[in-house]
Amino acid sequence: MKSAFQIVAGVALFALFQAGCSDSPKEAPSTKPPSTSQVDNDAAEREAAFAKLSSEDRNLAEEQGFCAVTSEPLGSMGPPLKLLVNDTAVFVCCKGCEKKALANPDKTLAKVAELQTKVKSNRGH
Ligand SMILES: [Zn+2]
Repeated sequence: MKSAFQIVAGVALFALFQAGCSDSPKEAPSTKPPSTSQVDNDAAEREAAFAKLSSEDRNLAEEQGFCAVTSEPLGSMGPPLKLLVNDTAVFVCCKGCEKKALANPDKTLAKVAELQTKVKSNRGH
């Protein structure tokens, strides 16, 4: 009687131990979507992205406001990338835009000037 109980208890414990053991090893990094894009978070996201820049770059990026290639808001795809186009600091939204911006410096600089004007006039109102 007693020994039978012990066996049952032992098996139960063993089963528990096994269950606990198979569950605990590092949970596979669950395939979270990179960012469940909450539209409300855009401003905060941009703020965080801009915070990664030096204060000087940040001012420049804020003056430009938008990607020199796609016109997407800077910071919407992570920290803006700073480029030098004919010795002028220019910001683009992502690596993909870097090549395009450098491939056509005149167009890029014209676009930046246009964006800066737009941002300034938006602030004025
Ligand atoms: Zn881009």
